[in-house]
Amino acid sequence: MSGGRHVTHWINGKPFDGRAQRRGDIYEPASGRLAGTVDFAGRAEIDAAVAAAAAAFPGWRDASLSQRTKVLFRFRELVDRHRDELARLISSEHGKVVSDAAGEVTRGLEVVEFACGIPHLLKGGFSENVSTGVDAYSILQPLGVAAGITPFNFPAMVPMWMFPIAIACGNTFVLKPSEKDPSASVRLAELWAEAGLPDGVFNVVHGDKTAVDGLLHHPDVKAVSFVGSTPIARYVYATAAANGKRVQALGGAKNHMLVLPDADLGLAADAAVSAGFGSAGERCMAISVVVAVDPVGDDLVAAIRERVAKLKVGPGDDPESQMGPLITREHRDRVASYVDGGVAQGAVLAVDGRDPEVIGGAGDGFWLGPTVLDHVTPDMDAYKDEIFGPVLSVVRVGSYEEAMELISANPYGNGTAIFTGDGAAARRFQNEVEVGMVGINV
Ligand code: NAD
Repeated sequence: MSGGRHVTHWINGKPFDGRAQRRGDIYEPASGRLAGTVDFAGRAEIDAAVAAAAAAFPGWRDASLSQRTKVLFRFRELVDRHRDELARLISSEHGKVVSDAAGEVTRGLEVVEFACGIPHLLKGGFSENVSTGVDAYSILQPLGVAAGITPFNFPAMVPMWMFPIAIACGNTFVLKPSEKDPSASVRLAELWAEAGLPDGVFNVVHGDKTAVDGLLHHPDVKAVSFVGSTPIARYVYATAAANGKRVQALGGAKNHMLVLPDADLGLAADAAVSAGFGSAGERCMAISVVVAVDPVGDDLVAAIRERVAKLKVGPGDDPESQMGPLITREHRDRVASYVDGGVAQGAVLAVDGRDPEVIGGAGDGFWLGPTVLDHVTPDMDAYKDEIFGPVLSVVRVGSYEEAMELISANPYGNGTAIFTGDGAAARRFQNEVEVGMVGINV
């Protein structure tokens, strides 16, 4: 199937029929084969997509809430009906196992379902007599063209965090998905059309920095939503804000799991393995650091090793597989370099995934098996950087206080979980840990 699939932009309710100046390759990570190519947008394609979205805006803004929600309900039904097809498409380009890919479609659908409640969510407020004889009211109005720029690791779910709400509110949308797995977004665009969304309300442009810059500088783009790595999030935030746009930008993560001596180690090891190696660790909420408070380290690492030994690595469409390959050869090599670097810097390789056993054979696929680096210290690159792969670092500390200091000092801040048998420790953790989201398991 080398060179087989050709993915192009979706503009004004149909595939773009212009000729691309530049294209990127799409791979099948499980085999390493070239699966097709994707057109990269330049100035002309960005202008065409934004113009289509701008032209569609007045009509869509004026569509009644009930007209908009009718389309949303139909879209919800269509995505639900095509969940398996979408999951297989995602799995083939991303590598994650099909059940995981179906899960991401489900979580995206939950946002569509939330957006179906938009008539209620868009209610304004009215305050009578705020000053003598003066009333004040507030209403929620759409902005115009919104743009979404999304990462490779959730090619359906992350775009669906953005466009259902934007569209339900009466905005029009231009999505720039990851160029590494672009097909799901085009399939979603086709389903929108089938659901009766007017042409131009939802558009997809593919590409790299050129396409992103085109959106960030376009005067008709009023708002930008970004999810991806931290350096690009900073760039998108600064550039879009400097151009007067409303912008939200979500970046990378280094999620910690704190295990206290009184924790149920079996439960903690189960969680570390599923949260560390699910989707090959290519999840912003993946647990990448286990913080083991003395004397729990040896027993916990043994319990993790026991479970990792049973994990089945293989192609995403094999029902036996529990973990698929990484997204690209370069990314696999980058992740493996952290394993080499960790060992060189003094970590102990408790599980070595560099030459994994793969269902059906590794071939030229982008494989790296589950890996556990023990005795990692905060000065090591494996601790400091977001690796975004199946590498779990175990940091050993002497006390709960030391663990808290370590976690709170980490510049990333997505999520942290605590494993303890002590409700008071969990409460302290909830109140004291300085991260964005906290999961508690007592
Ligand atoms: P990435 O930052 O490389 O790419 C994200 C998007 O930005 C893509 O559409 C890409 O084409 C574009 N892009 C890449 N380089 C660019 C540049 N120089 N200028 C402008 N645009 C550019 O991220 P990724 O590798 O696709 O995704 C993985 C990252 O996303 C991880 O860091 C992960 O933690 C993060 N992520 C965060 C969340 C969250 O909720 N915070 C959710 C999912 C993923």
